[in-house]
Amino acid sequence: MKKYDVIIVGSGAAGMMAAWKAAKAGLTCLVVEKGKSIVSSNAARCGGPALADTRLQETEQATVTVERLYSYMYEYSRGTVHAGLLRNAIDKGREVETALQEAGIEMTLMEDTYGVGFRARHFFRTPVQQRWQMLQDLLESLGVTFCLHTEAKRLLQDANGTIRGVAVRNLAEGREEEPEEELAADSILIATGGYLGSEEMIREHLGDIHVGALGSRLSDGAGIRMVLEAGGILDRNWGICTNEFGGYHSKMKKGMSSNMYFAIGGGLLVDRNGRRFMNEQRMSDKPLSLGGESTVREGHYYAVLDDEYYHALDRGTLYDYYGRPEAWHAGRTVHDCPQNHRAEDLEKDIEQGYAAKADTLAELAKKCGLPRLEETVAEYNAMCDRGYDGRFGKTAYLMKPVRKAPFYLFAYEQSAWCTIGGVKTDEYCRALTPSGQVIAGLYVAGMDNGSCYCVPYYDNEGAAVGIAFTTGLVAGEHITGGVS
Ligand SMILES: Cc1cc2nc3c(=O)[nH]c(=O)nc-3n(C[C@H](O)[C@H](O)[C@H](O)COP(=O)(O)OP(=O)(O)OC[C@H]3O[C@@H](n4cnc5c(N)ncnc54)[C@H](O)[C@@H]3O)c2cc1C
Repeated sequence: MKKYDVIIVGSGAAGMMAAWKAAKAGLTCLVVEKGKSIVSSNAARCGGPALADTRLQETEQATVTVERLYSYMYEYSRGTVHAGLLRNAIDKGREVETALQEAGIEMTLMEDTYGVGFRARHFFRTPVQQRWQMLQDLLESLGVTFCLHTEAKRLLQDANGTIRGVAVRNLAEGREEEPEEELAADSILIATGGYLGSEEMIREHLGDIHVGALGSRLSDGAGIRMVLEAGGILDRNWGICTNEFGGYHSKMKKGMSSNMYFAIGGGLLVDRNGRRFMNEQRMSDKPLSLGGESTVREGHYYAVLDDEYYHALDRGTLYDYYGRPEAWHAGRTVHDCPQNHRAEDLEKDIEQGYAAKADTLAELAKKCGLPRLEETVAEYNAMCDRGYDGRFGKTAYLMKPVRKAPFYLFAYEQSAWCTIGGVKTDEYCRALTPSGQVIAGLYVAGMDNGSCYCVPYYDNEGAAVGIAFTTGLVAGEHITGGVS
């Protein structure tokens, strides 16, 4: 049996950082990746990470200290994540930057899109097709071996439960009949990117909802399952990192419709009964986190528009429509750009079965099967006239009545960049048993780690991949004996 010091399952954000750390310490390291190519992971395609204390921040005189980012995220989590793990992860921001720079990958520092009060999000400038290849080249030059198109199937343990290796299967055509290969290692890191590709796990943990996968379906929960089979336990936070660009519907076949944007437009949203179910400002201001979370609860939700709102985007931006209120941070940063609102999309949306148009609200309600819609709109319009949302507390500047016929309805479901929820670990990413014992030799990082992401998802952009990169380093450091 081939033997390595460390085997890393998954060549995404967490996996590549752990491999870098292991290789730098002179350990023999194998990365097993299910995808055919090195750009299969979500990390290879993502926007960029939230990191603390980077040189880039220093240059722009916008340093976000480790303490600041840690306190912000831990408070946001309300103590539902492992404080020690989160702190260890956030400590590693500068080191992530070092590794990426060593590979020649360029980033810039983003503005504070959602008004969290600091600029932690970095954005990749190096194009998708190149950047992960550059990282692989660096790691190979440091001695890391890559095994692409190869799926980890199960963990190998000795009689004491200590992890001794992993069984893998090569997925290349013509090799289906070959037996699994067993590979030995002193340490295994599971970093397979969550469970967006598993409808079963989504149903099990999030309820009977459909979640459109904006990320890779190769991440199908196999990593989490393998750890459970080896005696691990799940942590308690389960959710998704939702699409912040607008709505989604599984019936949407012919490309993205411009009408999907109304999901985050701040106007009236209703549930399957035609009742309001949230403060819609959460969607216009924090769609990735708080807003997205409220819609996951509903599964299906609907934007109801009058003709004035519907055509407002032909004339200007959403920020214009609401009168450019100075107090509206996301209005300025997110909603002040033209939406390329296409008239032909409406026809297509109606034809595909997730939109409707009617001359009266009664007709719209009947067409769409939303029994309480008329009553909801009457109540909502009265509150708009008073300029006060007495039900959910939406800010006055977003209270616009739904009054001018014809009326429009767009139905939405959730879509996600990645999932939240997975294995319970200690502060060094070591997998734990139900009694809190460490499973010797077994580490879990990135989205498979259930102990460092909260629900709702953090509201500072870049948290998902930021924590994935940094927990990869936390695990890598422990594997190399950097901490005890
Ligand atoms: C288009 C897009 C844009 C995004 N933008 C952002 C952003 O700007 N900011 C942000 O914070 N987050 C963003 N995300 C989310 C971010 O990419 C993820 O949070 C991050 O990549 C998670 O890292 P990871 O290491 O856990 O998993 P991944 O990076 O997804 O890597 C997991 C790897 O494991 C492999 N794998 C799965 N199962 C197996 C198996 N059984 N055997 C071997 N290999 C396996 C997968 O193929 C994959 O390559 C984005 C996601 C997408 C899809």
